[in-house]
Amino acid sequence: MSRFNAGTYQGQGKGYRGKLTVEVCLGPERIESVKVTEHNEVRGIGWGLNTSPVETMPGLIVEYQSLNIPEVVGAELTSQAILEAVAAAIKASGADKELISQLKTAPGPIQEAPEDEEYTVDLLICGAGAGGLAAAVEAKLAGANVLVVEKAGITGGSTARSGGKVLGAGTRWQKRQGIYDSPEMVYDYLMEVGCRRGDFMSPVKTRYVSEHLNSTLDWLSSVKYSIKGNPEDILSQPWPELSRPEQNEDGSLKKCSYQVQDVEPIHVSLQPWRVHNSPGGGGQTNGEGGEISVPLTLYYENDLGGKILYNTALEELITDEKGAVTGALCRRKNGSLVTIHAEKGVILATGGYSRNKEMCSRYPTAHYYSTVPHGNVGDGLVAAEKIGARNFVHPAVQVVYTSLTCGIGINDESGLIVNEKGDRVVNEWTYQYTVGDALAASGSNCGWYITSGKEPYPGVKLGYKMAVNKKSRDPVSDSIEGLAKKMGCEPERLRRTYDRYCELVDKGIDEDFGKPAEFLHPIEGPKFVALRLHPCITVTFGGLEIDVDSRVLRPDGSFIPGLYAAGEVANTGFFGTEYPTCGTSIGGALMFGRVAARTALGLSKL
Ligand SMILES: Cc1cc2nc3c(=O)[nH]c(=O)nc-3n(C[C@H](O)[C@H](O)[C@H](O)COP(=O)(O)OP(=O)(O)OC[C@H]3O[C@@H](n4cnc5c(N)ncnc54)[C@H](O)[C@@H]3O)c2cc1C
Repeated sequence: MSRFNAGTYQGQGKGYRGKLTVEVCLGPERIESVKVTEHNEVRGIGWGLNTSPVETMPGLIVEYQSLNIPEVVGAELTSQAILEAVAAAIKASGADKELISQLKTAPGPIQEAPEDEEYTVDLLICGAGAGGLAAAVEAKLAGANVLVVEKAGITGGSTARSGGKVLGAGTRWQKRQGIYDSPEMVYDYLMEVGCRRGDFMSPVKTRYVSEHLNSTLDWLSSVKYSIKGNPEDILSQPWPELSRPEQNEDGSLKKCSYQVQDVEPIHVSLQPWRVHNSPGGGGQTNGEGGEISVPLTLYYENDLGGKILYNTALEELITDEKGAVTGALCRRKNGSLVTIHAEKGVILATGGYSRNKEMCSRYPTAHYYSTVPHGNVGDGLVAAEKIGARNFVHPAVQVVYTSLTCGIGINDESGLIVNEKGDRVVNEWTYQYTVGDALAASGSNCGWYITSGKEPYPGVKLGYKMAVNKKSRDPVSDSIEGLAKKMGCEPERLRRTYDRYCELVDKGIDEDFGKPAEFLHPIEGPKFVALRLHPCITVTFGGLEIDVDSRVLRPDGSFIPGLYAAGEVANTGFFGTEYPTCGTSIGGALMFGRVAARTALGLSKL
């Protein structure tokens, strides 16, 4: 009797963004082929890279005739969905439970026995998010022998999970949309927000960032990258239209480049518009940052021949007798030690520390959820501090509030926002970080955006229709008291807040929080909807201090020879306690990544 019922079968699994479908071709004795035929996973996490699950797992399943394939670190949900879908397809072929459990335990790619390795390179870059990738590309373009170590099985870090927005001021894209802006204007804005509550801003660094945002975007757009693989498979992925590769006459794919989709305001209350969206982005999005990290990764790996050691984490920096950094000790996931000698230095680009419970415990928001990758625990920060770098413990982290059903915080908020007790704490018509800040300051673990069951007012891009549909988990009720019960707050308290809000709407003046009159709309049923806003830590501030040459500084202001940093690991000096605008972090990471590589290699300044 044959092992399988030969034929082609379909199966489904649940990915990060919903259903993922595979087609599995079975011969009588073997799994002949596996193909992910439909999905909506995130580019730069689930698919799009040389190492992401959609590209790698089907081949491994066939090669090992096994479903015992390790998940790709950093893309676990897509990995699980593929394994689940293949198991479902095999089940659909009539295979019994025993056969499926055999496949799930059959030998897969075995973890090699730990064997220590040693490398000597010009430049070692730790971390492959925006900062590390920009440094890697810049250094490789300069002809350096570069090695990148990346803790996860994919590149991208927080960058790939981000909204993919990049700040610019006076760019060609802004001009195209008729927006007047300049580096001077963005400098004034960043300094004004940064200095509101404390003195953490470095005017020199902020000016440098402001003056180099535009060239950073131009540089990013100039990267022309190749995608490896079968063009048909590549084109069948869920591309945002603007990024979809074009074909040559012979069917091969043309090189691709990063694209700016459009420029938007970070909040309609803030002028001028200067947030540059990546394809597929806009509004309150996540996961479009792959539109930045994928081009840089593929350019580095496929076009420049750059090497990345995946699943390998920086542990310690190596210094010489004078205290200069000459390399690093890194650890592979399988436990083996990798010693890397870096003659021109080490660039730390290991991201922030949002996932480090101990480091975050100093903030009242420590218990909040975070959407950054699990590996972002501040390794680079710890390693540098150990050899004498300054670690600036910033008094704040960035908290945003997100709703899975709407784009609140980016658009025109005509509704009422209350904290978990049912109290109004902020002018709703403001940038999402200001709202997140106010909710956190009121000691609340979540917020609620209350609106009515009528059509939203013009200009309000609210997913309220989703909220009132039957599948929604967001509370819906005929009365404010009923809504309060579902929200878990005291009905009388929410009633008081609601009545006061209605009074202000009638008056046309928000005496309590100053919301502009044109956004004071009545909320009057027949249905009341409360959209849950989950506060979430997305960016950490402070950390290492670098100068405008990306050199890591000691507490006395001197720099540590051979040590450079870029990105969230070194967010000191251009953030106050509020996140000034989307795009600042990625813009800064890209720019300082390039600067770090240029300084280390002795190239001219940007
Ligand atoms: C949901 C969300 C939306 C956001 N939206 C935006 C936005 O639209 N625009 C914007 O400007 N900012 C945004 N941000 C912030 C922004 O994404 C990050 O601040 C920025 O991408 C950080 O880049 P980075 O290169 O410093 O770090 P990361 O992109 O996090 O990269 C760090 C890399 O280092 C690796 N690493 C960690 N430890 C080690 C180690 N020991 N050894 C080797 N590798 C290691 C990690 O695995 C990771 O790949 C957002 C953040 C989130 C969470």
